Amino acid sequence: MAQGQKWLVLKFGGTSVSRRDRWDTIGRMAVERGAATGARVLVVVSAVSGVTNELQAICEGNDVHARMAALVDRHRAFCEELGLDADAALGARLAELQGLLDDPRAAERPLPWQAEVLAQGELLSSTLGVAYLRSQGLDFGWCDAREWLQAGQVPNRSEWALRLSVQPSREIEPGFAARFSSHPSPMVLTQGFIARHADGGTAVFGRGGSDTSAACFGALLGAVAVEIWTDVPGMFSANPRVVPDARLLTRLDYAEAQEIATTGAKVLHPRSIGPCRRAGVPMAILDTSRPWLPGTRIDASASAVPGVKAISRRDGVVLVSMESIGMWQEVGFLSDIFALFKHHGLSVDLIGSSETNVTISLDPSDNLVTSNVLEALATDLARVCRVKVIAPCTGITLVGRGMRSLLHRLSDVWATFGRERVHLISQSSNDLNLTFVIDEADAEGLLPLLHAELIRSGAMPVLDPGVFGPSWREIEFGRPQRREPWWIAARGDLLARAAVGTPRYVYRLETVRERAREMLATTAVDRCYFAIKANPHPAILRTVAGEGLGLECVSLGELQHVFATLPELPASRVLFTPSFAPRREYEAALAMGVTVTLDNIEALQRWPDVFRGHTIWLRLDLGRGDGHHEKVRTGGVAAKFGLPLARFDAFLAHAHALDIRISGLHAHLGSGIDDPRHWREVYAHLAGLADTAGDVEAIDIGGGLPIPYTPDAQDFDLAAWRAGLDEIKAACPRYALVVEPGRYLVAQCGVLLLSVTQVVEKDGVHRVGCDGGMNALMRPALYDAWHGIHNLSRLEDAATGTFEVVGPICESGDVLGRNRQLPTATAEDDVILVADSGAYGMTMANTYNLRALPAEDIIE
Ligand code: ADP
Ligand code: ASP
Ligand code: MG
Repeated sequence: MAQGQKWLVLKFGGTSVSRRDRWDTIGRMAVERGAATGARVLVVVSAVSGVTNELQAICEGNDVHARMAALVDRHRAFCEELGLDADAALGARLAELQGLLDDPRAAERPLPWQAEVLAQGELLSSTLGVAYLRSQGLDFGWCDAREWLQAGQVPNRSEWALRLSVQPSREIEPGFAARFSSHPSPMVLTQGFIARHADGGTAVFGRGGSDTSAACFGALLGAVAVEIWTDVPGMFSANPRVVPDARLLTRLDYAEAQEIATTGAKVLHPRSIGPCRRAGVPMAILDTSRPWLPGTRIDASASAVPGVKAISRRDGVVLVSMESIGMWQEVGFLSDIFALFKHHGLSVDLIGSSETNVTISLDPSDNLVTSNVLEALATDLARVCRVKVIAPCTGITLVGRGMRSLLHRLSDVWATFGRERVHLISQSSNDLNLTFVIDEADAEGLLPLLHAELIRSGAMPVLDPGVFGPSWREIEFGRPQRREPWWIAARGDLLARAAVGTPRYVYRLETVRERAREMLATTAVDRCYFAIKANPHPAILRTVAGEGLGLECVSLGELQHVFATLPELPASRVLFTPSFAPRREYEAALAMGVTVTLDNIEALQRWPDVFRGHTIWLRLDLGRGDGHHEKVRTGGVAAKFGLPLARFDAFLAHAHALDIRISGLHAHLGSGIDDPRHWREVYAHLAGLADTAGDVEAIDIGGGLPIPYTPDAQDFDLAAWRAGLDEIKAACPRYALVVEPGRYLVAQCGVLLLSVTQVVEKDGVHRVGCDGGMNALMRPALYDAWHGIHNLSRLEDAATGTFEVVGPICESGDVLGRNRQLPTATAEDDVILVADSGAYGMTMANTYNLRALPAEDIIE
């Protein structure tokens, strides 16, 4: 048999070894990948999924006998699934496992015994795996990984770390590859996770450490590659199970992968990268159930693309805050306190310091931070400083190249954190990471928000195809059909309208009708009001009212406009939700008979006679905001809207005293919210409150539905939105469910047509000037909003030039879009189309610089 020296290492994780069909894949991949690379294959396996958790519980002395029995049963059943005789294949191993409970050490559970217990998971899975593969005719040999991998000898680590979270040995063993290659079978299967301790016993690499075993083998063998086969098709820009829009990272260099892994991305064990990096062995992360997907490649040749690549989260972080008591800046103070950490065998991760305080974090994967250890440490530290232990905390890290130069783009990310209590911020000196430590309780739901913010701000360059692949959502559910914009087919008509004069908004009413029907087709929704502030054009108001929607107004001016446009409209179909409006607007609205929403007690106190005896709705602030930009978040302490929940009872008491009936509760927490679950949560929250408020009939969960402005964004998942509402409505059906979308109904119906005035190059930047800018469309200047910009005159030309698209206003903020691709031939008088501008376009336009307002056209 060929004794080739070339090796390929394939590592299969827990879920990849837990079913028979997965073992078929392992066998097939070993043969195929070996043939493709011309290398012998070493397969490294984890324990069957969930088994290490059980073994760990046994180590902790938890329900030991029942767990042991269940583990034995599970492995026997698996043998049956694999068509193996359990006694022949696994009898000796199962006996060894059970024997560990009869071992005299089981009473005290010392660390070496725990390591042996933990090792059984991998010993079992590799033994039954090799028996199965052989039964399928594959020539696989088995080896005990402890014969080959040594635990590293690292000074000052705790006993726990030196046994149960060991570092791989860095020693290069001469002749390792030759010795290993003398194994008689062409393919070899071994265990991940376990290594030989210096005392001859067993040690383990820490939870998730099988990746590290594979990497060590790869490095020692000088393998052609180490492939990590798991249950996701690669490393993503965030944990895809938490952030469905996370993008596959197709290429990473070792340093970035290291940073993403260290800061919490469980998909790759952090200690696995070092050995491969030092030995120059490329790594790949691939999906066992979808082997055809490209996965993530990690090597030294990945090009260094600046920008945030990933956001990760680490729970269970412990912070130790040390307040100086006069010794700060004294020579040796820091050395004294760090000596205490060393003494307790604790490795420090992040450090933050100020004049009087040093705060450090302890990483749970590196330290056994039990309350005993912490107490002992705190007692020692208390002699030199005031100590506070803050736990459990979460570290949230942005990883990418050139973090420092990205800071200016992160303003909304700061704003998101601004609402939480940040204990520590740390920026690594290698400029690869920026970490925020907050209370674990505050981290809930933060990652999807931050991820969306990073994409929106351009800090995460997801349009770079060299690094970013498809999103998890796309891989799982296929790319949803993004509706083709209507204006492509209407190009001739639009060019003719532009010839009459620009700037000009054009609205297609059929698009408004389509969206209105989508809203009305939502069974759970009882009433839908169009928030007319998005676009009060009379033709649009007639269209939405004609479809059966109500209208929502925020000023007396809007109310008067509605009734002037639609004199027949019953007042019951109009909602008035003003903010800080003057008294007379409430008086006028109540006199008109529309539904009035109030959001503060002060109005009742100052103007009791205005509201006495009336029926109103109450707008609440549920304590949090959401949305595509800080300026559109309308909940939480920073927002001026809504009655805080703490004053809810006081409001009810005031209302009661004035004989006011509250028939509706309302909350609108922001605009452009991507998470379809948001609205059902608002309904659930309000319904809980409504139950205590007496007469409530309607619950208004606001608007805020997003539209996909950027090319990589997807259509809002209306199906998920509906499903959430159906579910919650079925659970609390007592109230009429009211929504009030604005943007969703009209944004995509409108385009803004502009004419090119000048094309100018300055210091390498090419600018296309248009006859309308922030005066015609404020959103880019106001919210850094992104709108598609197209040269309608040259739609068939390749958009290969990079331009900044600006307006004619004397403000440097008058930029419609930066780094936009347009045809290089773009020239004076070309017609530029700004897409998706039917919402908050004309309605915010102004005559700044005394430039005329845009014209407006309707396509029936
Ligand atoms: P295995 O058992 O195959 O070793 P793991 O559970 O250790 O698999 O790692 C895979 C899991 O890592 C994924 O299922 C995913 O939930 C999680 N994960 C966390 N962060 C990321 C990320 N950034 N990219 C991909 N997966 C991640
Ligand atoms: N089986 C071990 C664990 O679950 C090691 C691994 O799967 O990587 O942590
Ligand atoms: Mg793993």
